[in-house]
Amino acid sequence: MTLLEGSVGVEDLVLLEPLEQESLIRNLQLRYEKKEIYTYIGNVLVSVNPYQQLPIYDLEFVAKYRDYTFYELKPHIYALANMAYQSLRDQDRDQCILITGESGAGKTEASKLVMSYVAAVCGKGEQVNSVKEQLLQSNPVLEAFGNAKTIRNDNSSRFVSEHLLGLGQEEALKLERDTGGYAYLNPDTSSVDGMDDDANFKVLQSAMTVIGFSEEEIRQVLEVAALVLKLGNVELVNEFQANGVPASGICDGRGVQEIGELVGLNSGELERALCSRTMETAKEKVVTALNVVQAQYARDALAKNIYSRLFNWLVNRINESIKVSTGEKRKVMGVLDIYGFEILEDNSFEQFVINYCNEKLQQVFIEMTLKEEQEEYKREGIPWVKVEYFDNGIICNLIEHNQRGILAMLDEECLRPGVVSDSTFLAKLNQLFSKHSHYESKVTQNAQRQYDHSMGLSCFRICHYAGKVTYNVNSFIDKNNDLLFRDLSQAMWKARHPLLRSLFPEGDPKQASLKRPPTAGAQFKSSVTTLMKNLYSKNPNYIRCIKPNEQQQRGHFSFELVNVQAQYLGLLENVRVRRAGYAYRQAYGSFLEREGVEKVLGELSMSSEELAFGKTKIFIRSPKTLFYLEEQRRLRL
Ligand code: ADP
Ligand code: MG
Repeated sequence: MTLLEGSVGVEDLVLLEPLEQESLIRNLQLRYEKKEIYTYIGNVLVSVNPYQQLPIYDLEFVAKYRDYTFYELKPHIYALANMAYQSLRDQDRDQCILITGESGAGKTEASKLVMSYVAAVCGKGEQVNSVKEQLLQSNPVLEAFGNAKTIRNDNSSRFVSEHLLGLGQEEALKLERDTGGYAYLNPDTSSVDGMDDDANFKVLQSAMTVIGFSEEEIRQVLEVAALVLKLGNVELVNEFQANGVPASGICDGRGVQEIGELVGLNSGELERALCSRTMETAKEKVVTALNVVQAQYARDALAKNIYSRLFNWLVNRINESIKVSTGEKRKVMGVLDIYGFEILEDNSFEQFVINYCNEKLQQVFIEMTLKEEQEEYKREGIPWVKVEYFDNGIICNLIEHNQRGILAMLDEECLRPGVVSDSTFLAKLNQLFSKHSHYESKVTQNAQRQYDHSMGLSCFRICHYAGKVTYNVNSFIDKNNDLLFRDLSQAMWKARHPLLRSLFPEGDPKQASLKRPPTAGAQFKSSVTTLMKNLYSKNPNYIRCIKPNEQQQRGHFSFELVNVQAQYLGLLENVRVRRAGYAYRQAYGSFLEREGVEKVLGELSMSSEELAFGKTKIFIRSPKTLFYLEEQRRLRL
């Protein structure tokens, strides 16, 4: 292990001296320039996207990393994968590999590398092989659909088009080969040099077959995906009712006709569902016409809804199929790819919930890291050292507290009868949190005579662990209420398409409960809670991915860009937590017994606080001491 600041910097940021944001980034840069894309923070792996194929992933590397323990070789994603795999195998502990970072930072690549490593080293045998195959094949399938999840968001939406348009499927699905013809697809990326659509489609299809999808299932999945594309092309126009009230209608009936044929749906039914809304009160049913803007909104909401439900269905279907092949009693290694902290120019409800999730992940990270430290000290018979760290529980509470959190306030406002608006919601927050140390707004600032012109009147600000974020409350209420109109889910349920209707169980009139479905915020909070429970029950392993530049250029490292990401990933805080106790530890080594080590170190007259002798390891408190020891060792050699 390289300890002293050498040509490639320190391999573990815990050993960085001095420990500052700038030196941390410089260290990553120094290493990146030497093509060392991996760096540790204890057993956390930081990975900087190389944007080039490095010769460090072949079987020779797999073999090397499987035979050594974590710190013996250079930092590598295989070392992390190996640690997780061995702990799964030898200690029977379920593992979770958490991969965070922003779009393009290398999360998906990292998850593939972990999976292929595990596949390469795990046991043989027919059953294992079939599971391995299924695992590896789940990648192209989820990628094909997962990347398109953000419809019209970025170039990844290209994926679905490629797959759907290959292999003569256009015929059966009635799709056009030219992706420019679809409103939901990005026309600039529809054709990429060197991409073979037909070959890609074959890969997808054979992957689905290996996982265990029947031909019929594959067909249905593609039909539902095609339905989403076709929905995007349904053109809505202004119409007026007899009394002059604006309404909407479908411009050209052919689109809905095709959709109807594709999924067995009455096209009149679909048009009604898109262009009107039924309100039910205790006594009567009232049907109101939607104007063209509302109808377009309904159409897009339906398309997004179908797509995300299809994706969730795929994930469950793949998990089921792997569960069946492994039998019920199984150990789990989950690989989780999560979008990181987000601070845009204009932050809305979406950023608010993403950042809430990241705040919770940070909490898990801190709690589990400290717990792990504590356990190791106990195992080694060393007294516990108090650790100073920033506990972000107060921020999590501000957001998620059951009665008095921001999400609860938002729900309350959405459910309250009378005139509600984003500004009544904000007023409520301002009143409730005026004294909260992590909440700010124009109103609370004025009360304290702080005049910050960067914050608008319709904004509030949260001091997250990763920095301050200003959220604009405009449309918070609507987005939280983003429920699919019942008319739409009922229309989908009426389709004679088994998969499609199974995606909309609430469309069944018998199921149409009187209870109001949960709000978007409540749903998000409940999935975050489930995720946290899941994480606490597993042994977590962390990979932090960083994008070194915006141009996808090899070898180019933008200090500013990395600096911001390092801040959002909380890297400096990671290092602080890691080295709050003892920064460094090492097994005594086979040639030098504990007594020997003690004697040698005694001669160096060092402060007793700097060292602790555990049962199998020596613990060194600060990097300075470690560097001193290293120097002494070299001088005496
Ligand atoms: P994310 O999932 O975080 O959005 P990806 O994993 O898709 O990012 O990475 C974006 C691109 O960066 C990949 O398509 C690949 O070209 C490149 N890349 C990422 N990680 C590596 C790596 N370890 N080696 C080589 N190229 C990589
Ligand atoms: Mg990805």
